[in-house]
Amino acid sequence: MIEQLVAAVFTLLPTNSLAEIRHSPPGLTVDLQYTSSNNITGEPLYPKNSKALGDKRLIAALKQAEAILEAQGYGITILDAWRPKEATRKLWNKAVELGLTNYYAPPQIGSSHNLGAAVDIGLHSLKEPQKLLDMPMKFDQTDARLRNNSPEAKKNESILTSAMLAAGFIRHPLECWHFSYPPCEKPKLQP
Ligand SMILES: [Zn+2]
Repeated sequence: MIEQLVAAVFTLLPTNSLAEIRHSPPGLTVDLQYTSSNNITGEPLYPKNSKALGDKRLIAALKQAEAILEAQGYGITILDAWRPKEATRKLWNKAVELGLTNYYAPPQIGSSHNLGAAVDIGLHSLKEPQKLLDMPMKFDQTDARLRNNSPEAKKNESILTSAMLAAGFIRHPLECWHFSYPPCEKPKLQP
């Protein structure tokens, strides 16, 4: 029983390869969306003031993307980074209920977020680091009817994606905000 409890607590803790993605405006700001109830579960998934964590290799690549964007007058807003397995379970259970399983990882397989090998991000201007610039899809938006097809949104998507790909990231085909950094082993989580 104690072993099970220890194992359960351990799965909630980050691994040694994780480090903090530091809030350093104007080039990089951190605004973790899951500290609020604004997600499909309708409740906060993280405590307030949670830190953004990521694999150290991802953080190094993020620095490169930040430098590319900074030269163009833009910065990166971190919306989600390392994700505890418990949050993945909660999101998955709700996604099944809502028929949104294309967008969330099943807990048995896990998400690259659970390894600190993915970030969900937005783009901001260095002049206004608190304000997210328009993108075709907002973070966690899954309804294609709400897609923003303005030239401005497409331009912002292209600027962000180009910088992230140049820094070695891979983008999720359906989510303009989700970027993972290889090499990424598939996480294995206990159901
Ligand atoms: Zn993501």
